[in-house]
Amino acid sequence: MNKTIYLFTKQVKKYMITLILFGPPGSGKGTQAINLVKKYGLLHISTGDLFRYEMKNDTPLGLEAKNYIKKGELVPDSVTIGMLKNKMDANQDVKGYILDGFPRTVPQAEALDELLASQGNEVTALVALDVADEILIERLQGRAATSGRADDADVDIIKNRIEVYKTQTSPVADFYAQTNKTSYVDGVGSIEEISNRLFDAIDAHID
Ligand code: ADP
Repeated sequence: MNKTIYLFTKQVKKYMITLILFGPPGSGKGTQAINLVKKYGLLHISTGDLFRYEMKNDTPLGLEAKNYIKKGELVPDSVTIGMLKNKMDANQDVKGYILDGFPRTVPQAEALDELLASQGNEVTALVALDVADEILIERLQGRAATSGRADDADVDIIKNRIEVYKTQTSPVADFYAQTNKTSYVDGVGSIEEISNRLFDAIDAHID
């Protein structure tokens, strides 16, 4: 009897995979997310993309987010968590999620854990791309020409985003390390090499 319940619980948990694709701005999360989607068949949710969509459409949420994004600061947790929750609620019929750009603070991580727990799920793994600051700055300045993103065009804003990552976001990797869910991956190399490193790191967390 107990064994049946245990197996059932395990199956429910295994059903949803939630991967957190983590790393500083410019570390290649968006690029790698495409390959992770292909391999694992999960829904990609990028909070940066969601904010840009809202800003493009001049929605109230977009207008609020813009005040923070243009300075390279984080949008307040309550706004971001609400937006993420709406996106997840609207897509319950998926195998799981690849979260890109979320959680970016420890309170966001706690909110995510609560949300998943209410569905009988939990975070599967956090995979963090490791890239040196100088390379990040070069990549983001290079990307500005094609991304058209104001927050990529100004080196002071880029530096602020990297600083915000170090102070407010990197503690999220430590938070999930407490439950052995965090893996670091070298984020320098060819796109394919980095994808293969991510696959190996993720597969180690999926039984
Ligand atoms: P990048 O990783 O290249 O900095 P993103 O596209 O992920 O860019 O995010 C762009 C901006 O959107 C961030 O600098 C931040 O202002 C805002 N943002 C995105 N995700 C979050 C989040 N989870 N919490 C707060 N702000 C966020």
